[in-house]
Amino acid sequence: MSINLPKLTIVVPCYNEEATLEETTKELTRVMKNLIADKKINNDSTILYVDDGSSDRTWEIIEEKIASNLFIQGIKLSRNFGHQGALIAGLETARDFSDCVVTIDADLQDDVDAIAQFVDKYQEGYEIVYGVRDKRDTDTFFKRNTALWFYNLMGKLGVNLVPNHADYRLMSKRALDEFAKYQEENLFLRGIVPLLGFKTAKVYYNRKERFAGESKYPLKKMIAFAFDGITSFSVAPIRFVSLLGFLLVLVGIGIAIYTLFAKLFSYTISGWTSLMLSIWIVGGMQLVAIGIIGEYIGKIFKETKRRPRYTIEQNSYLEKRKEQILDLMKK
Ligand code: UDP
Ligand code: MG
Repeated sequence: MSINLPKLTIVVPCYNEEATLEETTKELTRVMKNLIADKKINNDSTILYVDDGSSDRTWEIIEEKIASNLFIQGIKLSRNFGHQGALIAGLETARDFSDCVVTIDADLQDDVDAIAQFVDKYQEGYEIVYGVRDKRDTDTFFKRNTALWFYNLMGKLGVNLVPNHADYRLMSKRALDEFAKYQEENLFLRGIVPLLGFKTAKVYYNRKERFAGESKYPLKKMIAFAFDGITSFSVAPIRFVSLLGFLLVLVGIGIAIYTLFAKLFSYTISGWTSLMLSIWIVGGMQLVAIGIIGEYIGKIFKETKRRPRYTIEQNSYLEKRKEQILDLMKK
């Protein structure tokens, strides 16, 4: 087998997936074998199961598979860290052993045969390949519409997401190395990956029904996930408070003029004017003040993330140096 073939790792987060793992293993093994037979990936490529603190037999099944199937590796998290946490654990583990990594859910909703297309794109030089679903007709009406609404809202708040793409994607070693520089605690993968830049491609596929078991993403988790996404990426809510404060001060000035006129030119109950003035002006000023404090907190919030300030895609210094070394080696 040629050394030049890329080593692929497929990362699969699993939370109480005892009902699906058998079939998932069968399907992913088939995909691996085909890719190796087609000479698209190296034969030491692996499938990495990440047990996200399951309370059922998930880890026991994974251990059985590690023992009986050469492709399978596993890591077990100490408790339930959530889908994103499990994915990140898998990506960071796989980074050291792989040339490219595909992440896919354990429930076979995503078409495993798209992986071959992901690898083709990787071979063409794309560093990130997004799996994008063609239709969402297997999702409930509710899930489809809340998802659409979420993408719209995030877009308006200035967070760049790839529509209809969940966490089914390929990342090259290079993209993963860059990704590792994002050290923030609340990592929202779908928001971070587009920030990496590089050459990206999309592969379209049909999303199916969950193969077995139930969704581990009930409404409560979905809302928490959306809220997390917004507050990890955007200071727009803070800015909204500042804006509201300024508007309120403007309204307050209008009301101040009105109350003063009313006091001067018609009968008013004593105390009304001063009350009205203080409620509106002071209220507005308080909101402005909160907004300004919020702006500073927003800055601190961005600083604490310590995101890389830039990513270099090509560097002629390094490339020239590489050529020189190659030349020297030839001599
Ligand atoms: N998952 C996980 N930790 C969790 C919840 C889910 O690792 O706390 C995994 C789950 O096993 C599956 C993937 O994340 O492989 C997606 O979950 P699910 O299919 O339940 O979500 P849905 O497709 O309904 O959005
Ligand atoms: Mg699912």
